[in-house]
Amino acid sequence: MNCDIGGNHMYAFVENFRRIALVLDYYWNNDINKLCIKNGDENVEINDAYVDNNTVHINLKKDIDIKKQTYLMHFNDCVKVNYSTLYETSDFNDRFYYDGDLGVFYSHEKTVFKVWSPAASSIALLLFKNGDSFIQEEPAKIKMQEERGLFTLEICGNFNGYFYQYEVSVYGNTFYVVDPYAKAVGINGLRGAIIDLKETSPSDWENDSIDSINSYTDAIIYETSIRDISSHPDSRVQNRGKYLGLTEDNTLSSKNQSTVLNHIIELGITHLQLMPFFDFSYTSVDERNPVNYNWGYDPQNYNVPEGSLATNPYEPCCRIYELKKMIQHLHKKGLHINMDVVYNHVCKVEESNFEKIFPGYYFRRYKDGTFSNGSCCGSDTASEHSMMRKFIIDSVIYWAKEYHLDGFRFDLMGIHDIETMNIIDEKLKSIGKNIMLYGEGWELNTSLPREVQAVQRNAFKTPNIGYFNDTIRDAVKGSVFQLKDKGFVNGKAEFVNDIKKSILGSVNYKDIFKGKFSTPKQSINYASCHDNSTLWDKFQESNPENSDEERKKMVKLTNAIILTSQGVPFLHSGEEFCRTKLGIQNSFNLPDNINCINWDRKAEYVDVFNYYKGLINLRKLHPAFRMNSLAQIEANIKFLEGTPPNTLGYIICNNANGDIWKNILIIYNANREPVSVQIPFESWYLSVDNEDAGVEPRRQIDSGNVEVAGISMCLLYNE
Ligand code: CA
Repeated sequence: MNCDIGGNHMYAFVENFRRIALVLDYYWNNDINKLCIKNGDENVEINDAYVDNNTVHINLKKDIDIKKQTYLMHFNDCVKVNYSTLYETSDFNDRFYYDGDLGVFYSHEKTVFKVWSPAASSIALLLFKNGDSFIQEEPAKIKMQEERGLFTLEICGNFNGYFYQYEVSVYGNTFYVVDPYAKAVGINGLRGAIIDLKETSPSDWENDSIDSINSYTDAIIYETSIRDISSHPDSRVQNRGKYLGLTEDNTLSSKNQSTVLNHIIELGITHLQLMPFFDFSYTSVDERNPVNYNWGYDPQNYNVPEGSLATNPYEPCCRIYELKKMIQHLHKKGLHINMDVVYNHVCKVEESNFEKIFPGYYFRRYKDGTFSNGSCCGSDTASEHSMMRKFIIDSVIYWAKEYHLDGFRFDLMGIHDIETMNIIDEKLKSIGKNIMLYGEGWELNTSLPREVQAVQRNAFKTPNIGYFNDTIRDAVKGSVFQLKDKGFVNGKAEFVNDIKKSILGSVNYKDIFKGKFSTPKQSINYASCHDNSTLWDKFQESNPENSDEERKKMVKLTNAIILTSQGVPFLHSGEEFCRTKLGIQNSFNLPDNINCINWDRKAEYVDVFNYYKGLINLRKLHPAFRMNSLAQIEANIKFLEGTPPNTLGYIICNNANGDIWKNILIIYNANREPVSVQIPFESWYLSVDNEDAGVEPRRQIDSGNVEVAGISMCLLYNE
């Protein structure tokens, strides 16, 4: 059929199997005889039509068959009818939603394959001996059986070690794909692998566990990348840039500073947030020769670990085994692992297995058929479609159970709907440990209605889900988008109130501040992360008038605020020794020498490292910084009145949250010069000043005021 898709004057979409909506930008002459609808080659008879505003609702005499495309002609215009609205309906779900397991199910006796695609006219299994598509091989081909969109096949015998693809015939095209539920793949993720998952676990894996946290506020998150943390030669690990790099103990740099895992343990954080380690696109990083770099926010096979981080990416079990080995080792060292997941988009929609298996289903579209693009990747996934929602939920649960993960950080979470996020939360609870769930709740231009997006303004509808807090991020040191912009620590006094709100965990406070979260555990407090400038680079740009020594003080004060605020602190790896990416803001595909953690630098900035280490220890030993409710915060935090400009002070009182310290008095001074601050006339012990941070009393203060050095924090307590 010759048809101009997307005519200027109209578009059409399927409302239910028997009704098409035609949207016109001109007057409808009420003549259904001028309409012609074709489903495949077949003319579809029209029963009647009625007009509502600019939309003509056309009732059909028979159901649309979605295995065929539908075209609508009106006078000389012709458009392809978009199915995506139909996929949101109970009409569609009643007919095609499948609640069972999908994927490949191996046993010694047989292997079962299950793929869902109501649109496919046929699907066949192709069975290979090789996982590498560059090796010429004629595969065995076996047709699958369909029932209500579910294609299944059972093959008898032991197929452990074989590889597969599906040959999908859909809308006149033939595609060769790996199903999204694949758990193992060959090199570059282009063929699925049939394996015995039981053979992928290191010894004693069944006893791998770590004590669950009581509340998210007990976590101190440290974001890093498996590749970056050990890729620098001075990391002195054997398996540089690999999963196994994080299993090496007691490593030291050439200047005798702890590196990689040794460093992380010394720093004392509780949760490692690892940048993408699911299988990301072979077009970004070629697993055969991973010289090119990529952060990995371009998913290819969601349920499979990335191959370039394994010592042998050709062997499907190797990447699974080594990832589990890493997790097991980190758990033994007392570290929780949070996985960065990127369900909001895929690498390229037209190359995506989702789109090839069921075109039009998995990605969000406007009613005129154009792709929604809130993710800026042209492929917002449609979490509101039941089988996409099911996929995301199944995938998270699979990672949590099979890989014993302790938390999930959702990239561009605002693309997803709140119902999906809340179901994930509920299902994770059934695993029996407190698994963290948080993400980027930015407001994005996606086609989902605002009130159901998982964004900060809807945080009260998702009480167990955390949100990256951009208010504290920008208030503490200036906007991430404007390099020259300043915040509280580097010279902008008007941010004092935003800092006050932030240290309260961004919850409501006594009719004085209106909060954006219902509990402090929803507030992921941070100053920098993998996106945008590193903290050190930001200060180089925003404060060229200051000295390196002053900028170092800013780095200390920034995370002194983050680590003493109520909520969940988050650190970007390397900021504890002034990491630089040479001023580059977006390094997602730049070489290792830009993205690596440069361990050679640590000795030079070790005073910053020691300061952060002291603050982390303080936070871990003192529950007053980890309150869990708005009521606790309102009852126990009081601000000091009349402190000098560019400073703020507050007291956490009443042995808050079971703390052994009765009162904790904190002052942040953002002035270059020292200030004298009036404090309650009691006996205080000082344990944090501009030079050292910790829990031990360093001196006693009984004078009713305290001197706070320029650009620094001061902490006093009494018992
Ligand atoms: Ca890959």
